[in-house]
Amino acid sequence: MSAIRAIRGMSDILPAESVDWRTLETTVAAVLDSFGYDQLRLPLVESTELFSRSIGEVTDIVEKEMYTFDDRNGESLTLRPEGTAGCVRAAIQHNLITTPCRLWYAGPMFRYERPQKGRQRQFHQIGAEVLGIATPDIDAELIILLARVWRELGLTSAVTLEINSIGSSDSRLRYREALVAYLDTCRGELDEDSQRRLASNPLRILDSKNPQTQALLDGAPALADFLDDESRADFQRLCDLLDVAGVAWRHNPRLVRGLDYYNKTVFEWVTDRLGAQGTVCAGGRYDGLVEQLGGRSTPGIGFAMGMERLILLLRELNLAAPSRTADVYVVTVGDAAQDAALGCVQSLRDSGAAGRIEQHAGGGSFRSQMKKADRSGARVALIWGEDEVAGNAVTLKLLRGEGGQQTLPLAQLDNALRQALARTND
Ligand code: ATP
Ligand code: MG
Repeated sequence: MSAIRAIRGMSDILPAESVDWRTLETTVAAVLDSFGYDQLRLPLVESTELFSRSIGEVTDIVEKEMYTFDDRNGESLTLRPEGTAGCVRAAIQHNLITTPCRLWYAGPMFRYERPQKGRQRQFHQIGAEVLGIATPDIDAELIILLARVWRELGLTSAVTLEINSIGSSDSRLRYREALVAYLDTCRGELDEDSQRRLASNPLRILDSKNPQTQALLDGAPALADFLDDESRADFQRLCDLLDVAGVAWRHNPRLVRGLDYYNKTVFEWVTDRLGAQGTVCAGGRYDGLVEQLGGRSTPGIGFAMGMERLILLLRELNLAAPSRTADVYVVTVGDAAQDAALGCVQSLRDSGAAGRIEQHAGGGSFRSQMKKADRSGARVALIWGEDEVAGNAVTLKLLRGEGGQQTLPLAQLDNALRQALARTND
């Protein structure tokens, strides 16, 4: 029969990689925790309306990237393409929005995109959202928190912070008119996507990767000139706070975010180490979203980081962990030996004398078990044969370094094992 393969763009995370995933997840979670953020665990499936209403009908995500299907009762459902909408939905539904409300979430997101390095159809994000605070000190907090995450991961020198303000919806509307008026004069020279966006979502054109379009934009009116006073002042305060905190930033006047719901602060952390998929984390303010989703008018701001890209970056910088091997392999020949070993191994697990104990299973001769012990990568083998059982003893064999073995009374095992592991620790 033919073998069944995983769906294109939906990757298995194999054992050799999963160590780094766990390190990444626990590091980010610990920093969020230390800043007073609480975790929300959200469903992967939401009603389609949640996303069309929040992300906006004319965005890439809603236009062409969502996994949408009808449930058996005819209701339209969607695999979540991002986490903010669900997070805000849950915060409203469960009355979590007291001020301040600091939340985070983690898990898979789904977008029908062209799979390539750093871009998948099922990918993973960790994101945080703060609801109820309108002032730029919280914008700064999120960025300072992220700077700490990069520092703990050893990524500080590989990522750059870009920030911008896209202003209030009023100032954006005025800018939009000016931008469209300008681009209309050179409509024919724009790339195809940008021509389409000219009518639907012209701000996204600023984000275009097309060099000719980018060159045309050099002569375009600047978003910064259209900012309202409040947005301008908030942006200045954010820059000042980042300076005080010692977080380096770069003003990218063309930075806009793909989704409709953003206003004022937008930011991205980018790297030049991953080719085209260089944005590892993106975020911004969304003061209208809570109301748009049926809650009381509440400001909000958040970010989401792309875990696949961060894993790629760790590898690129040679910061990936070596794959894990056993510390101790337990060899037993015969039922009586297996019985004798069982209790001892339990005690070793209780006392924490060894990190990773692999107990042989599946029978076989002493020789074949010792081969498996070698192949396991363990540094120590614990051996129970007839003699050991009869003598209430165990043989401890060093599989690396100077080698050698000794048979000792069970009472000395815990200590002897700790010493042996410390000696062979490389
Ligand atoms: P891009 O411009 O790369 O498509 P985006 O603007 O669509 O990104 P966001 O919706 O802001 O991305 O998501 C936040 C982060 O999630 C991105 O910066 C990126 O690191 C990651 N991300 C987004 N889409 C994917 C994907 N298809 N595969 C892997 N990571 C992704
Ligand atoms: Mg995208």
